[in-house]
Amino acid sequence: VTTYWCEYALLENGWVANGVNVTVENGVITSVLPGQEAGTSIRLAGLTIPGLANCHSHAFHRGLRGRTQRGKGSFWTWRDQMYVLAENLDPDSYQALARAVYREMAAAGVTSVGEFHYLHHGPGGKPYGDPNVMGEALVTAAREAGLRIALLDTCYLAAGIGAEAAGVQLRFSDGDADRWSKRAEMLAAAWPAEPQGDILVGAAVHSVRAVPRDALPVVAGWAEARARPLHVHLSEQVAENDACQTAYGCSPTELLAEGSVLGERTSVVHATHLSDRDIGLLGASGTVACFCPTTERDLGDGIGPARALQAAGSPLTLGSDSHAVIDPFEEMRALELDERLASQRRGHWSAAELLAAGTSDGHASLGFPDAGRIAVGARADLVTLDLRSPRTAGSGPEAETAVFSASASDVVQVIRDGRVIATRDDHEVIGRELEAAIAAAWREA
Ligand SMILES: [Zn+2]
Repeated sequence: VTTYWCEYALLENGWVANGVNVTVENGVITSVLPGQEAGTSIRLAGLTIPGLANCHSHAFHRGLRGRTQRGKGSFWTWRDQMYVLAENLDPDSYQALARAVYREMAAAGVTSVGEFHYLHHGPGGKPYGDPNVMGEALVTAAREAGLRIALLDTCYLAAGIGAEAAGVQLRFSDGDADRWSKRAEMLAAAWPAEPQGDILVGAAVHSVRAVPRDALPVVAGWAEARARPLHVHLSEQVAENDACQTAYGCSPTELLAEGSVLGERTSVVHATHLSDRDIGLLGASGTVACFCPTTERDLGDGIGPARALQAAGSPLTLGSDSHAVIDPFEEMRALELDERLASQRRGHWSAAELLAAGTSDGHASLGFPDAGRIAVGARADLVTLDLRSPRTAGSGPEAETAVFSASASDVVQVIRDGRVIATRDDHEVIGRELEAAIAAAWREA
């Protein structure tokens, strides 16, 4: 049994309390008592908030940061560079890179990651002797970094609608949906879902570009039968909508609805270019919308209708996707700030609502509904922020400070399931680890 004394703590409904004793037994919070003296408890100076969930990650994209900013282009020219990096990776270099990236996340306050994993096979699409060795590399990386992981094994079969996978995409493809489900089943059997577990195997449809219409119900059915989270990239680009209309005569959202992909356990990622009918379908089905604002701005995707989706019934979550930035505080405030740019108005969400997207709603969407809250019975994920840094000083011990003033650099210490997984003292080591892993990933070309 450990008791932490939080100078300030963000409790439920965005309430910031002073002098909070949080008692933890076997990784679970067993009591939360505001208005206490520090006494002999472990002192957490600053503002302690629940662990953050990074709901959309492609770990290897971190190797592109700073290297894709020259010249002009679009999402599609960026993707060409991403493919070069994907071509290089093997299980060892992938694990080393992912571990460094997950350590960067942990130091930024992330306690759970949703890894949208599609780099399955060896060069030329040849399966490895262990066909899930790349997925296992990600699980090992998360364990070493101290993160909880929802490994979203991704079905990816085509280069585009009606176009066969080619080149590096062969590494992503299982050939057909049945072979994908057999491989995913092996992965799920290796890590069965457990109460209080830190590894959960879920599923993903890469997109309606990469998964043909008749394969959608296969992936959706696999996730449904096992009650696992299901994620899918949706309408990040207008070109996807146009191709879908041309091929199928409907929008990507309508195609997902027809393929039984939508529902409360499903997260659609980006959801940038939607019609009113799409928003209605997503909201009415309770489908979660995962926004990745720093990636969407980096790639020039556009600003999705986050407020309209939430009003229609879709919970919102956040992800750092391409890792152009790994800073959950930046993602939370970007949701609000992007909406301000699009609407020319302020105040679309309260800080508490933005924190819910980054914490409790995010964890729930990854299949960890008992994480992301500082409350009795929740998993003990505690992220402590410095309230006296150059960024946060003078903002006060408020929920607004966490969302609108703080950055990843202000995270002093991160506890997951009662165990310290990162402190601010780790930054230098993590930087060196990232530098070495990224250099190695490119060197193998
Ligand atoms: Zn993505």
